[in-house]
Amino acid sequence: MVSRVIPVQPFDLVIFGGTGDLARRKILPGLFRRFCAGQMPEKARVIGAARADMDTAGYRAVVRDAIIEFSDETPDDASLGKFLEHLEYVPIDARGETGWRELAKLVRADVVRAFYFSVGPSLFADLAERLNQHGLTDEDSRIVVEKPFGRDLDSAKSLNRDLAAFFHEKQIYRIDHYLGKETVQNLMAVRFGNMLFEPLWNSQYVDHIQITVAETVGVGGRGEYYDKSGAMRDMVQNHLMQLLCLIAMEPPSKFEPDAVRDEKLKVIRALDEVEPHHIVRGQYEASEKGKAFRDEVGDSRSRTESYVALKVGISNWRWAGTPFYLRTGKRLKARSSEITVVFKELNHSIFGDGGEHRNVLSIRLQPNEGITLGVTIKEPGLGGMRLIDVPLDMSFADALGDEGVDQTDAYERLIMDVIRGNQTLFMRGDEVEAAWAWTDPIIRGWEARGDVPKPYECASEGPGDAVQMLARDRRVWRKVSP
Ligand code: NAD
Repeated sequence: MVSRVIPVQPFDLVIFGGTGDLARRKILPGLFRRFCAGQMPEKARVIGAARADMDTAGYRAVVRDAIIEFSDETPDDASLGKFLEHLEYVPIDARGETGWRELAKLVRADVVRAFYFSVGPSLFADLAERLNQHGLTDEDSRIVVEKPFGRDLDSAKSLNRDLAAFFHEKQIYRIDHYLGKETVQNLMAVRFGNMLFEPLWNSQYVDHIQITVAETVGVGGRGEYYDKSGAMRDMVQNHLMQLLCLIAMEPPSKFEPDAVRDEKLKVIRALDEVEPHHIVRGQYEASEKGKAFRDEVGDSRSRTESYVALKVGISNWRWAGTPFYLRTGKRLKARSSEITVVFKELNHSIFGDGGEHRNVLSIRLQPNEGITLGVTIKEPGLGGMRLIDVPLDMSFADALGDEGVDQTDAYERLIMDVIRGNQTLFMRGDEVEAAWAWTDPIIRGWEARGDVPKPYECASEGPGDAVQMLARDRRVWRKVSP
């Protein structure tokens, strides 16, 4: 089974910050893969725009090196050469006049125009204003903005206002790359494309849901930024919140951008306030594998969390009474992102084996994307009716064969959606604001209480307090395993 590739319309994609880390690691290698897959039309162009003073030939050399460095497979030289011919470069100053006239001359009016703001959010307002001032956009042009979209409700509102001054909501694509992952879309297909799950998808049948995003890396070179942010702002407000929304939302009437986003927004608005004893914050300590969090961020008294676990309730008809446990952290035992739906025990077991058997649906985002359903069966062999739980493994690689597994990276999928004008997998302004409105009081609460994060060992599953939080509810976390 080979995935179908439908070429998009001709486009000019301007990448502000086209020499930066994100552009070199993700955006440009992703575009190259789309080019190789035949999705980039002949007339498509990618225009790097950044502060570095270089010409198009210099930029092509930078991009060539980046693609070679950051592609999983060694790129084919001829294809790479052809892709680079689609590239242009303009040195530009987001805050000054340099480069804008040149860019205006370069960008064509008869193709889709998209402007990727791969720069810090402090430049969003300047870019939006200058794009408008130099007549680079029309009603059909799109802008793509990166996280972090604000650090609290006020700053998110201010960014939304800055963009809304020059662009309609229909033109603004706020990226959360988690939404571009294959399994995240599969989560919607599993929920809304099968008769099997949706009738059971509520508090009557679901005991609880766990969402885990575990990383093995520490803060690395992002120490200064991360110390001002922490796991709650960096991961929960956006990525985990989006996963929670897709798991918990009502079925939209159609798979269309606003229908989906309306339902996600309703979930965020139904989230309960989180009690202090339902929050565990952690910070990793030094080990032979690496430095302590405080040493990495260069602040021996930092109270920023590199780990957070929360028990979250949703006050609506479907979910009241079913807790959602969220956790994310750095320097944990394994890199693993997983959503687990733990169903309730049977009302009555006719087998009387005394065992506790539950169905568990586990959706793995990374690594080894796939879905596993734990079912109870009879243990094979003679000797009576003994029950065991076994996984029905729907690993996509096994079911579809290697060619059927779509290796498209989240970024390239999302960029192609921008060109197609499909906003389904992008966050709407009101969604982002609602997420901050829920997050802000949690952060303000622990700041006011002066909470200090609990230390945890590197390569562990996080602080013991998180285990205790579930133990109080007679539940256990899923193992953090690769
Ligand atoms: P970076 O520092 O590596 O690159 C910044 C880019 O912006 C450079 O190309 C630079 O020339 C350009 N730039 C800076 N000031 C400018 C100005 N005044 N005028 C024109 N261009 C200017 O940053 P990055 O890591 O590529 O991140 C870019 C954005 O994406 C940030 O908001 C970051 O938070 C976000 N982001 C990055 C990653 C990542 O993996 N790097 C992941 C998610 C989100």
